[in-house]
This record gives sequence, C-alpha cells and structure tokens, in this order.
Amino acid sequence: MSNHHQHEVVIVGAGGAGLMAALYASRGADTAVISKLYPTRSHTGAAQGGIGAALGNLEKDTVEWHTYDTVKGSDYLGDQDSIEFMAKEAIPVVYELEHMGLPFSRTEDGRIAQRPFGGHMNKETNKPVTRAAYAADRTGHMILQTLYQQCVKNEVNFYDEFQVLDLIVEDGKTAGVVAVDLSTGELHTYHAKSVIFATGGHGRVWEVTSNAYAYTGDGVAIAARKGIPMEDMEFFQFHPTGIKKLGILITEGVRGEGGVLINGEGERLMDKYAPNAKDLASRDVVSRAMYIEAREGRGVNKEKHMYLDVTPEVVNKYAKSDGRTNPDGTPYVTTAEEILTKLPDIIDFCRTYLGIDPVKQPMPVQPTAHYAMGGIPTNVYGEVVIDEKNTIMPGFYAAGEVACVSVHGANRLGTNSLLDIVVFGKQAGKKAAEYSKNNKYPSFPDDAKENTQKQVDHILNSDGSESAADIGKEMKSVMMDHVGVFRTEEGMAKAVEKIRELKERYQKVGVTDKGKVFNTELLNVWELGCLLDSAEITAVSALARKESRGAHAREDYPKRDDKTWLKHTLAWMNDDGIKLGYKDVQLGKYEPKERVY
Ligand SMILES: Cc1cc2nc3c(=O)[nH]c(=O)nc-3n(C[C@H](O)[C@H](O)[C@H](O)COP(=O)(O)OP(=O)(O)OC[C@H]3O[C@@H](n4cnc5c(N)ncnc54)[C@H](O)[C@@H]3O)c2cc1C
Repeated sequence: MSNHHQHEVVIVGAGGAGLMAALYASRGADTAVISKLYPTRSHTGAAQGGIGAALGNLEKDTVEWHTYDTVKGSDYLGDQDSIEFMAKEAIPVVYELEHMGLPFSRTEDGRIAQRPFGGHMNKETNKPVTRAAYAADRTGHMILQTLYQQCVKNEVNFYDEFQVLDLIVEDGKTAGVVAVDLSTGELHTYHAKSVIFATGGHGRVWEVTSNAYAYTGDGVAIAARKGIPMEDMEFFQFHPTGIKKLGILITEGVRGEGGVLINGEGERLMDKYAPNAKDLASRDVVSRAMYIEAREGRGVNKEKHMYLDVTPEVVNKYAKSDGRTNPDGTPYVTTAEEILTKLPDIIDFCRTYLGIDPVKQPMPVQPTAHYAMGGIPTNVYGEVVIDEKNTIMPGFYAAGEVACVSVHGANRLGTNSLLDIVVFGKQAGKKAAEYSKNNKYPSFPDDAKENTQKQVDHILNSDGSESAADIGKEMKSVMMDHVGVFRTEEGMAKAVEKIRELKERYQKVGVTDKGKVFNTELLNVWELGCLLDSAEITAVSALARKESRGAHAREDYPKRDDKTWLKHTLAWMNDDGIKLGYKDVQLGKYEPKERVY
C-alpha cells in the first residue's frame, strides 16, 4: 500500500469513543480509524462496573437527579450545560447500544439490570440509586465488541497497529496526521478534513495504576506540542479499590453489590467519613478516607491497604442498615452463587493474582491512579476549543478520556466515563462528518513527515547514556508521592523540578534495537516522552491551584475556595515551560455548596 492516504474523517483511537465516533462519521463521510492497539484491545474493554443512565428500571430515577449528582460529584467544577446534555442523552444512547445487540444483564422481567454506584443518589430516600446499567462485570468489553461489529458492518477503514506520532496543522486548521506502521516501521501520512483524537488517558504517569500499558498520554502530548492548551490536568482520579501494590482495578460494582471497606481494626471505615452514602460516597472522598486511616496506623497489618469485603455474611449483615431491599421491598439476602454471577471477572482476578477467593475472604485494596478528568478542551460537539473564549479550532475534535468537555470537573463519578465516551464520541463523529461535507481538503505540506522523522532519528541516534526504565521509575515515584491523593506546595514543587530534570535526561535516552519491525523499544521511549509532558502539565497546573477541590486535595489549603478558584485551568506547553491561563465554569441552576455524602 502507498504510504500516503486520504480520508475525509480520520479518527485516532479505537476505544469506545473512537468507535462510536467512527460509526457516526461513517454514515456521512469517508472515515478511517488509526489505532496503535488492535481495536478490541483498547482500555474500554477493561471497564467493569457499568454505564450510568437514569432508566429507572428498578426504582424511580430522573435526568435531573443524574445531572445534580454529576455536578456535585465534580465539586462544582463541571460545566452544568454539558452535564445536563450528557444526562439527557444517556437514556437514548443506552437503548441504542441495546438495539445494536449489547448483551446487558437483565432484571427478572427482562429489562436492563441496574446497580448502585458511588455518588449516584435517590433524592427521595437519600440512599444510593440503581443507575448503572451493566453486563456482569464486563460492561466495557461488551460496549467495545458491539461497536466494533457495527463499524465493520459500516465498512469503516481500519489501520490497526499504526501509532500516530504527529498532528498536521496548516494555517490554524487540522490537515491530517503522521503515523508509524508498527509492523514495518514505515511512516505514513494521512490527509484529512477532520481529525478526531480518541486516544484515552495517561494514568501510566503514576506508580500504582489501574490503567493499561498503552495509557501513555499520546493524545495530550501531541496536541500540547502543537500549541493546544490542556484543561484541568491537575484533576486525576485515584480509585479507592486497586489490588494492593498491583493497582489492578476492583470495580466499584463490588461495593454496589454490598461490599464494605474494613480497616485493620475490623471497623467499617466509611461510617465515619460519609454517614449517608458510606462506601458509595464519591471516589475522591473514599480514597482520602482510606489514606487517612492508613496514615493514622489503621491499615491492615498497619500497612497502606484496607480490606474490601464482599462475602455474603458481610453483605447480608449490612444490607438492612444500608437500606438495601429487594425491588418488592422484602429483605435483601444474597448468596455466594449470586455474587459469583454478578462479579465473575473480579473473582477470577483475585483468585489469579492474589490466590484468594472473594466470596470467602476479603480483598486487600489501596487507592490506584485511575482516570484523567482533564485533557484536550472541547465543547459538547467534540469541537476542540483553544482559548479562554472557547474559540474553535477548525477540523479538530476530541472525545473520550483524552478530552475535557468538562462533564467530570474535579472528580468523575463511576459509570460516567463509559457514558461520556458514547455520548460525546457520537457528537464528535457527527460534527466531523458534517464539517467534512461543508469544507474542501485543506492544503497538505510536502514535508509533513519531517517533524516525526526528526523525533524518531533523535532516539535512534542518541548515545543512550540515560535509561528509559530509570527515568520512568523516577517519574512514577515522584508523581505518586507528591502529586497523588494528598498534595502540598513543597511536594509538588519538588515534583515539578524533578520532572524537568527527567525531561533533560530524557534527551539522552537511546535504544539498543535499531530495527524497523515492531520496534517496541523505540515506541516505548517515544511514549515516555508523552508521559513526561503529561506529568509536567499535571504538576504545574496542580502547584498553581491553591485550594482543595475534588481529586485535588491540598494539605496546606484544605478548603475549596470558590471565590478565587471556581475556574478551569488551561495549560499551554511552550519551549520555555508551561504557561497557565483560566476560563469560566459554566454554572447553572445548582449553586456551589459544601458536599456532604
Ligand atoms: C480498569 C478500568 C475499569 C473501568 N471501569 C469503568 C466503568 O465501569 N465505568 C465507567 O464509566 N468507566 C470505567 N473506566 C473508565 C473508562 O473505561 C475509560 O475512561 C474509557 O473506556 C476510555 O475510553 P476511550 O475510548 O477514551 O479510550 P480507550 O478505550 O483507551 O481507547 C484509546 C484508543 O486510542 C488508541 N491510541 C492511543 N494512542 C494512540 C496513538 N498514538 N496512535 C494510535 N492510536 C492510539 C489505542 O489504541 C486505543 O484504541 C474504567 C477504566 C479502567 C482503566
């Protein structure tokens, strides 16, 4: 095949956001998807717990409640117009997935089953509401498979195992991308009218993470290097329940099914920190509670982890006081078999990685770096907006975890990301196709490959006096210690300095493999560069924000400060460092209040 391609819409990323965008774009335009992973290996496939929508299949639920919970969960930093848009679109989009053939778990009368999840509340009972539609604990896997089948049916062009290394911008307009074919090492150019970034997150910046190895922030780094600002990068979510030390995720669905967090002294710890929502308070609240317990010497064996207990004895013991009943109001009693049916993969992970059986024993868990609330700024149509005034960059779109709409603000609620990727993937796909119908191909530079070739040659020709593994380790450790669950001025300043030193040293990293075929060593070094950029933007944005809000918890500024800080951060990466600016939050009918769970 020739190394130059032309498609009206080029989508980078084949996770839930990229595939939903592809499905919609391909209905109106010639569409291609480029993905460094084979599509069904994307991280969306690892999502376990569920997708949020106020279907109200088991109890009363409303779009308004979903909107309010998301605004509150975001610690009032989410844009309320975007949040309302997402909560409204949630219901039709879940039925749309059902009609595409997604095998949701079912209620006894055949409707889509739903389970409670953190931060989603019934406003009449003040108890967690059943809002998460799920397919056992494989919801993301099912979304990915379903969308991939639909894309194949719609004859979307796929470039699998091609990694995009650069975005081409001509006169302020997007003109395409440059990618390397992993199997040959050849560079390919793609001339496009619209480009959609759907490249996922950058959780590999931290030492303990639930994120896939591919979560290296490529989209963030490529866009930032083109002068596009990143929004709210200081907000990175730590999920409360990663497997001790490994970080592998134990879904919040476990607590949705009645699982309880217990400290080293055998106490249920969330009673103290969130008397209403308890284990189903929002993730930032639960992660901080676990961290404080461990710091005060109440971890299991006085270590950093707690127990997560979903054995039937414990679930049944707390069911009544937690207000958990069957749909007909009769007392809720579960069995080991039922737990196994609802959480098969979790039980399997624990048997494999820990040698323990969660229906008989508690699981040792600790907070794990999980989700990027920040990213490439967009509006609800996936259009990338590049300044304080939300000026649109023609032809450039972003959707999914790499984007910041912003619906998650300072903290995302569980189940709202699978929702975000399908709702905004769809909008981005539609808009990109519409734009490509109304516009000619922009001009495409003859030297499009040059910048990419330079980056690759730099790594291939380096003297290799520094090691990528060492730099990666030092970055992960400093970010975990100082830009993690709790933060201080001193710690973050240290992190910024360290990341800058690592970026200098990175210039001297080389590779021993100089070959062309599947040169993963070379690409891992390139990805480390993206991680360092993501880490620097995160740490600089965090250091500047002198308040605590959502996932950004400062010990030296423990309170939220709406007067000064109710605003989005924008961070531009320049040659001489990071420049910060701020833009307004779209407020609405929900006035910022103190969050009580
Ligand atoms: C373990 C785990 C469990 C989760 N559970 C839930 C849940 O239950 N509910 C929920 O709402 N959310 C959950 N989340 C979050 C949610 O799954 C993700 O935020 C979401 O799936 C991201 O989708 P995406 O389409 O943006 O990215 P992904 O699905 O990760 O797709 C990214 C795509 O980009 C491609 N790509 C990246 N860089 C490049 C490049 N340079 N060139 C070419 N291609 C590239 C990759 O190949 C991939 O196809 C979970 C996350 C994790 C990690």
